[in-house]
Amino acid sequence: MSAAPSPLPALGPLDKPVGFLKGVGPRWAEALGRMGILCARDLLYHAPRDYDDASTVTPAALATVGADVAVVGRIRNTGVVPTRSGLKIFQAVLEDDSGAVTCSWPGQPWVGRTLRKGDRLLVRGPVKFFHGRQIQPREHAVLSRDGQAANEGKVFVVYPASEDVPQWFLRRTIGRNLDWLVQQARQEEFLEPKERAALDLMESAAALEALHRPRARADTEPARRRLAFDELFFEQLLQARARHDATRAKPGIAFERSNELVKRLYESLPFALTKAQIGALREIMADMSSERRMNRMLQGDVGSGKTVVALFAMLRAVEAGYQAALMAPTEILAEQHARSVAKLLGDLPVEAATMTGSAAGRRREKERAHVASGRARLAIGTHALIQEGVEFEALGLVVVDEQHRFGVRQRLALANREPWPDLLVMSATPIPRSMSMALHGDMDMSVMDELPAGRRPVTTRVVRSAEREGVLAEVARAVAEGRQAYLVYPAIEEQERDGLPSAEAAFERLKDAEFAGRRLALLHGRLPGAEKDRIMRAFQAGRIDVLVATTVVEVGVDVPNATVMVVEQAERFGLSQLHQLRGRIGRGTEAGLCVLISDGAEERLGVLARTTDGFEIASEDLRLRGPGDLFGAQQHGHAVKLKFADLFQDRDLLQLAQERARGIVDADPALAAKRNQILLACLQRRCRDRAGLFGVG
Ligand code: ADP
Ligand code: MG
Repeated sequence: MSAAPSPLPALGPLDKPVGFLKGVGPRWAEALGRMGILCARDLLYHAPRDYDDASTVTPAALATVGADVAVVGRIRNTGVVPTRSGLKIFQAVLEDDSGAVTCSWPGQPWVGRTLRKGDRLLVRGPVKFFHGRQIQPREHAVLSRDGQAANEGKVFVVYPASEDVPQWFLRRTIGRNLDWLVQQARQEEFLEPKERAALDLMESAAALEALHRPRARADTEPARRRLAFDELFFEQLLQARARHDATRAKPGIAFERSNELVKRLYESLPFALTKAQIGALREIMADMSSERRMNRMLQGDVGSGKTVVALFAMLRAVEAGYQAALMAPTEILAEQHARSVAKLLGDLPVEAATMTGSAAGRRREKERAHVASGRARLAIGTHALIQEGVEFEALGLVVVDEQHRFGVRQRLALANREPWPDLLVMSATPIPRSMSMALHGDMDMSVMDELPAGRRPVTTRVVRSAEREGVLAEVARAVAEGRQAYLVYPAIEEQERDGLPSAEAAFERLKDAEFAGRRLALLHGRLPGAEKDRIMRAFQAGRIDVLVATTVVEVGVDVPNATVMVVEQAERFGLSQLHQLRGRIGRGTEAGLCVLISDGAEERLGVLARTTDGFEIASEDLRLRGPGDLFGAQQHGHAVKLKFADLFQDRDLLQLAQERARGIVDADPALAAKRNQILLACLQRRCRDRAGLFGVG
């Protein structure tokens, strides 16, 4: 009964090209290939997008012309109607409690041989107008005859189809090959019956069968759950391997605790740490003390105080005799960090070097030399830190800020060298826990979901574009009082089609109208980097009153005097992105005001007016727009494509999948043990395209 743990080869019958299946010639194979169905496995996992059965039917009276419906009714009478062209049409009148409707099968008089008056029939097809309303069924099934249930639970399966791969072909091909496909899938069962029982999951082969040939609609949910588990589990297995490589494959540093610097920083802080900061620090310090390398992400909302947490970690490295590097995605942010760190350090005897691409030659050489000799214990900079072969005397900790701006490779470039420094990645993009587990299963996670007390919250209003003038007048008043403002637009240039305001057009208009006599600047992603920096610096220094911009201001820039933000066509941004944008204001002692201008998305945007909790907003974004959009908007490198699992509904499965995957990899990283060989083979078979990425042969 149990799956035999005999070694499986890395490729199996399900990996054969789809063209070798029954009924699939070279032409069809090509068309399927264009849909991404290349091998037998792809076809087996081509999941129906919908099911129809007697429980999802339309009342006969409501089958309207143009709709595609499923109807269940009793056959009142039948007949064959000849047409002038000689075509024979079989017709049956179907009635239910709501009324009756005619069903027609043009050119298929033989259908009548299997149907009888009084049968309960399920039909599915388009409703056409032809001497009145009629359904032209693509398919039908007798549900009961003479009061005897025949096919009572009969379910029609609807596949995602394409122009060259029609529904009927998918049904026919999957139908003809399903027994064989399922039999092959049985060889790949990796959960013992006992484990399945503990996880409350069915066999995966049975799940695949139920997916394509459910006996009742209710069968499809447990099937989906099993397949969702598999999907999450193998993804987590890959990530657990990556986590192993990051944390255990190389010797880590067990930083000695002397408390010489950490304690002094703690005592000199002008504020008390939040509970969330203390919790995160505890986790980070535990990682740093251990011999395992740290590979941790610190997730915290904008303003939650990540910098000081990072500084504690860096000082812990320094007091143990190592150097620490802090890498930010832009020069402005790197300089900002350098200033905050200098301020927090006060008179602690720790020298910090700043390394950015634009530092002048002599200064750059000096900083470099200090880092190489070990005189500088901290290095703060941009990716200049990883370029041009910067040498460290003993780099023990790497902190990367705003991680989604960096690729995995860049992160590793700084950390993958002796003495194999610990890695801390800071993200200001709060994401729901399930999303973070799915995406970052290779890292350990610390979450700061609390802001320091006493922050003046930003007030957010959602208004219609008709109110724009009043809003701009309000901005002009704030500017007259010496405040600075951001006006944010989704596009740089006017879109010809919609004529909606763009950053450029607004800039041209506003500088001679509402903001005549004020210092305006236009900032967008197409400007050269040096020009962007120049403008941002001028804004920071208060030499610009109003910044008309696209989302380039999204990054963690800190301008305490900027208290007002207006976002045009706010519906074109994701909620999380708007939350990030809004994080630019309200960083000083004055209360901030954020106005979202939008016609028609009030409800979605209302979430922002209601809460300033980035985690809650991200959850809402995930619920409303799905994972693809959430990450698309944030330019995440790694996309999770889930076919069966739902990060919302299946949080429990994800948790189980991660625990299990980590447990297995911790005990047997290479999956070399006999009992794990089936897992290794299944992993290679299922994730062929990505396995190499994570060091799985
Ligand atoms: P972010 O998490 O967005 O990077 P920062 O680290 O820039 O946040 O911190 C934002 C501001 O809050 C800084 O001025 C910092 O000194 C201050 N801060 C950090 N922690 C606390 C705290 N526990 N209490 C009060 N202010 C704090
Ligand atoms: Mg920050």
